[in-house]
Amino acid sequence: LPARYGAGEKSVWVEYIQLAAEYKPAVNLGQGFPDYHAPDHVLKALSKAALSENPLANQYTRGFGHPKLVQSIGKLYSPLISRDLDPQNEILITVGAYEALYSAILGYVDEGDEVIVIEPFFDCYDFMIKCAGGVPRFIPLKQKKTSGTITSADWVLDEKELAGLFNSKTKMIIVNTPHNPLGKVFTMEELTFIANLCKKHNVLCLSDEVYEWMVYEPKKHIRMATLPDMWERTITVGSAGKTFSVTGWKIGWAYANPKLMRNLQVVHQNCVYTCCTPIQEAISEALEYELARRDTSDYYMKSLAREIQPKRDFLIKALTENGFNPTIPEAGYFVVADWTKLADKIDLSKESDQYKDYRFTKKFAKEVGVLTIPPSAFYSKEHKHLGENYARFCFIKKDENLALTEKLLKEWN
Ligand code: PMP
Ligand code: GLN
Repeated sequence: LPARYGAGEKSVWVEYIQLAAEYKPAVNLGQGFPDYHAPDHVLKALSKAALSENPLANQYTRGFGHPKLVQSIGKLYSPLISRDLDPQNEILITVGAYEALYSAILGYVDEGDEVIVIEPFFDCYDFMIKCAGGVPRFIPLKQKKTSGTITSADWVLDEKELAGLFNSKTKMIIVNTPHNPLGKVFTMEELTFIANLCKKHNVLCLSDEVYEWMVYEPKKHIRMATLPDMWERTITVGSAGKTFSVTGWKIGWAYANPKLMRNLQVVHQNCVYTCCTPIQEAISEALEYELARRDTSDYYMKSLAREIQPKRDFLIKALTENGFNPTIPEAGYFVVADWTKLADKIDLSKESDQYKDYRFTKKFAKEVGVLTIPPSAFYSKEHKHLGENYARFCFIKKDENLALTEKLLKEWN
C-alpha cells in the first residue's frame, strides 16, 4: 500500500457494519441513517425517473451535474445565501457529500500544505488530507461544563489555540456545522472568529453542512458562505442522502464561486466523471416538490427537525435515567453520551481493542444489544483519549426501536 494511505486500517464504518452483521444487536444505533422510509414523493420520483419514456433517462448525464438537478439546487440555496447561484458554474454534483469533500481536499491540498481540523471530526477528513500529501493540524472542542445539563453548545474552541494553528503553510480549515457527532451548531461569534482568521491568513474554508436541515428550535444554522467576504473563500458541502433521508442514494454537492469550483471539477471529471442519472433526476423532482411548498409547515427541510426532535428527547431521557451522561445535541441526529458511571457494570477486560470506547461499544452491543459508535474514531491519534469515555447513539430510528433501546437499558441497569 503506498505510504500516503497509512497502514490501511479498516474505518470505523467498515468495522462496525461488519459487527452489526456478526452480533445481530437488537437495535442498531450505529451508522447514521434512518431505519424507516423517506417521504413517499421522493421514492416515487425515483421510480418515475427510471421508468421514464425518455430513451436517455438512464444514460450518462452532464458530468458536473444533471442539468435539472443543478437548477433545483440553485433555487434551493440562492435565497439562503442571498445571491443568485449560477447552476452551471457554481454547483458540482458528487457521489455523496463524501466525494464533494474528496474533490475539495484533493483539489486544493498540495504536498506539505496544512489543513486545520476541529475534533471530534468526521473520520474521512484526516485520511483525505493525508492522501493529498497534506498535514492535518487538529484542535479539539473542549467541554466547558462537565456536570448538570450539558448541551453541544458547551463544547467550544479555544480561540488562542485556534489562532496559533494558522501560519503561512495553512491552506484550508474544515468546519462541520451542524456538527457530527456532537450536534453543535456553530454560533455567529464562533464562525466570525474563524472567518477573520481565514481572511487574515488567506485560507480556504471547507464547510461541511450536511446536517443543515436538522436543527432544533431555537437554534439556527448559519452558512459560512454568507459571512462578509467569505463567499470568495468558502466551499460548502451538502448531501441529498441526509436532506431526504435516503442515505443509500449517495448524491451530494458542493457549491462555491466559479473560481473555487474549477479545482473540484478537475478531480471529479477524472475520478467519477458523472453521477447516477435517474437518482439526480429524482432528487431534482423531490426538491421542486418541496420548493413549491417552501412557505408551508409541511416543507420537509423544516418538518424533519420537528419530527425527530421528540426522538432526541426520548433517547436523552432514556440515557440519563440509565446512568449515561449525554450531551444534548442542538442539531443532527446523534447523541454523544459519557458512559463512565456505568464502567463497573461491564467487564471490558476480555475485549482487546486499544481504546476504551471501542471496548465499551463492543461489549455493550453484545451484552445489552445496542450498537453504537466509538467516538475516538473521530479524533487524531494524539487526542483519542478525549473520545474514550463516550459512545455515539443515532436516534433517527423508528419509535419502537427507541422504546426497545430504553427497555434494554432498563433491564441491564
Ligand atoms: N459529512 C458528514 C459530517 C457526515 O456525517 C457524512 C455522513 N453522512 C458525510 C459528510 C457524507 O455524506 P454522504 O452520505 O452524502 O456521502
Ligand atoms: N455520516 C454517517 C455517520 O456518521 C454515515 C457514515 C458513513 O457512511 N461513513 O454515521
